[in-house]
Amino acid sequence: MSKDKPTITMESLASLCKRRGFIFQSSEIYGGINGFWDYGPLGVELKRNIKESWWRAMVRDREDIVGLDASIIMHPRIWEASGHVQGFADPMVDCKKCKGRWRADQLPETKCPQGGPHEYTEARQFNLMFKTNVGPVEEASAVAYLRPETAQGIFAQFNNVLAVSRQKIPFGIAQIGKAFRNEINPRNYTFRSREFEQMELEFFVKPGTDAEWHEYWVKERMKWYQTIGLPEGHLHRYVYPKEELAHYASACVDVMYDFPFGTQELEGIAARGDYDLRRHQEFSGKSMEYFDDETKEKFLPHVVEPSAGVDRIALALLCEAYTEEWVPTAEAAGGEVLAAEPGKQPPQGYEPRVVMRFAPRIAPVKVAVFPLLKNKPELVAKSREVFEMLRKRWPAFWDQAGAIGRRYRRQDEIGTPYGITIDFDTLQDNTVTLRDRDTMKQVRVAIPELPSKLAETLG
Ligand code: ATP
Repeated sequence: MSKDKPTITMESLASLCKRRGFIFQSSEIYGGINGFWDYGPLGVELKRNIKESWWRAMVRDREDIVGLDASIIMHPRIWEASGHVQGFADPMVDCKKCKGRWRADQLPETKCPQGGPHEYTEARQFNLMFKTNVGPVEEASAVAYLRPETAQGIFAQFNNVLAVSRQKIPFGIAQIGKAFRNEINPRNYTFRSREFEQMELEFFVKPGTDAEWHEYWVKERMKWYQTIGLPEGHLHRYVYPKEELAHYASACVDVMYDFPFGTQELEGIAARGDYDLRRHQEFSGKSMEYFDDETKEKFLPHVVEPSAGVDRIALALLCEAYTEEWVPTAEAAGGEVLAAEPGKQPPQGYEPRVVMRFAPRIAPVKVAVFPLLKNKPELVAKSREVFEMLRKRWPAFWDQAGAIGRRYRRQDEIGTPYGITIDFDTLQDNTVTLRDRDTMKQVRVAIPELPSKLAETLG
């Protein structure tokens, strides 16, 4: 993690995610299954906000990109054409004693649990695609794969989309969907999973314009990450040197984020030339060429591919948002907020709080509404009225249980940007207390003005 924020532990983040319903272990009641995760009520909202923000930026706000939703299981020849059947493999080694299995380039630092050092086998190729069978008879001809990336569905439908969308090059096809990889060693919480979601764009360009479009997309994508709340200072670019590029690629840049476990990839942006369309043309026997009306030329378009992982972005946002601090016990009285010191107790008059500082547009719940006291029917009724008004526009939450300070803390922990309290003054003058999650400042706002006030940050 960068210097301006204390390092958080993945254990404390995972514990909050479970406690508050962001992320659960898949199949937990059966002991879990390695590399698979479930998103709880808040996690699913967070992921939807990420996907909606991406879709808006990539498809809805543009005239030159259209969407697609291809099937997860496709014709097995697709994966022969793409090179995944042959090449989508990591060399892996096993320990003969403890039966552990690792990627050859990611060997563990720990000793063998059976005692002494691990006893490794020779490295062997391990295909990362999940195999399945289509149809009732388990025979070789019915073998199919769960897609390891969404991109190939786009290439396979290139002609159909081009015909119906009346797009002209340069233009793009975008897709969001599940992908599956039988990763040898899932780890770092959800970072490397076996089932995950991708958001991919294939942007088709005229040969020779690859470099400028690649540069354009790197810039666009870096900007987008900042709009969802990942600051520039925690983002990095890894520019692939020539010798690390795939043989068909002319450029590749990874967008990296400073996770607590190291600086790691969120997205890869590659200029892939005409490799994919050429291979599908070869394997399917169908022309993938584009006819340029103006120049009367026929050519195979080149492609620039920004390919991002929803789960990794969700994890980055959770890491970025998670903050432990010491705040004045009587917060409404004001006072300085202190950074929590790990392992220590807060000073007199302070208490610890965990706050998820999500950017408002990405926060799962935008506003919480509370009656000051739950046994006063007039306050409860008025608070329901305000809640019903606001929930039409934003995901809102209503809570009457416990002391008001405790209710604020519960919302801080899930990153709700605003809290609204209905008290006895409300019944007199129709104003409420509006509390800001980050500064904890409270202001009085007239009820009719609430929507426009909230819209300033929530949109
Ligand atoms: P890595 O080197 O980390 O295995 P990759 O370079 O193979 O990733 P790509 O094939 O470029 O990944 O996939 C594009 C994006 O899909 C990645 O940037 C990442 O966000 C996401 N992704 C890939 N593999 C996984 C995974 N196992 N779990 C979660 N997300 C993943």
